[in-house]
Amino acid sequence: MLGDWKKGLTKENLLDALSELFYHDLDSWFNVSTFYCDSCVDAFIKKWPGIYSRDMDFQTNSIPLDTFYEGGRVRELFTKEEFTKLSKHMKCPNCNEFISGHIWPYDMSFDVPDNFENNVNEIASIAERTPFLLLSHPFAQQVYNEIEAFSKTMTPSNLPKPLFRARMYKRNYSYVNEDFLAPEKKIIKEGRYNHAGRQVLYLAEDELTCYYETRSPEEGIMLAKVDVPEKMKILDLMDKDLQDNNIVQAIQYSSLLSSPDEGEGWYKPHYVFTRFVADVAKSVGFEAIRYPSVRFNKGYNIVVLDYEKIKAHVKIIDFKYVPKDNFMSK
Ligand SMILES: [Zn+2]
Repeated sequence: MLGDWKKGLTKENLLDALSELFYHDLDSWFNVSTFYCDSCVDAFIKKWPGIYSRDMDFQTNSIPLDTFYEGGRVRELFTKEEFTKLSKHMKCPNCNEFISGHIWPYDMSFDVPDNFENNVNEIASIAERTPFLLLSHPFAQQVYNEIEAFSKTMTPSNLPKPLFRARMYKRNYSYVNEDFLAPEKKIIKEGRYNHAGRQVLYLAEDELTCYYETRSPEEGIMLAKVDVPEKMKILDLMDKDLQDNNIVQAIQYSSLLSSPDEGEGWYKPHYVFTRFVADVAKSVGFEAIRYPSVRFNKGYNIVVLDYEKIKAHVKIIDFKYVPKDNFMSK
């Protein structure tokens, strides 16, 4: 009889057996070795907004404990009642709280650098109080060194063709090509990768990303196809050669570069680190940065930092009105 194996076992023995099967199921079902729980998942998402928004595995792997039980081998050796009772005594490997409700099976794809959380907090504090002094922090220096080292391995390359740039649609306005170039210096506010008054050119790699980056306006967008004929040295944050670079991966998926939170008006402390990365990139010879969109999780953007270099050659191929419905049906 299958039930007999439990005879004489203590609760601890049973819990060990359950735990072993549980992790076995986690591995064979999700191909991961660990998970997050209802108690810690919010903190995890806050810490790693880039993982939440971009790694579909993380979003789709969330599973109620009941369902996990039904689909795995745990079920062969424990009744539902036993599982419900015993699993209340299992602890989350991440936060050590007792599990209940859901689990989020997920393995990080990189090793989090030592002391990373502390570093992020200190960086955030400098960004808020004395942003010009960011490079005084050892972690910021490390980021500088990594980007500088990467720069030495890179040669200029072509930007994808075409790229897209949009304006929120205004009725009764006659659009001209210049509307899709960098705005005049005097009206430029600070942005994700530019200081106030600094001309850069933000471009998206596809139309849908462009729409989301324009903040999904009800009135639709005027969408331009753009060709940047120059070869440029591009800091591609998604470059395969950077996949094993724990520092770059960590800053990319953390709130440092992927914060969806943008602050009000001029108060944008979350842009300090991205602008710092833009300064670093420029100072070590990069002319553009390719980065994942935080508004549309499948999208990529390119910001041309060296606008002077391209402004005489950049071509607006054409532009057209695209209503919201065209994007919503996709
Ligand atoms: Zn937890």
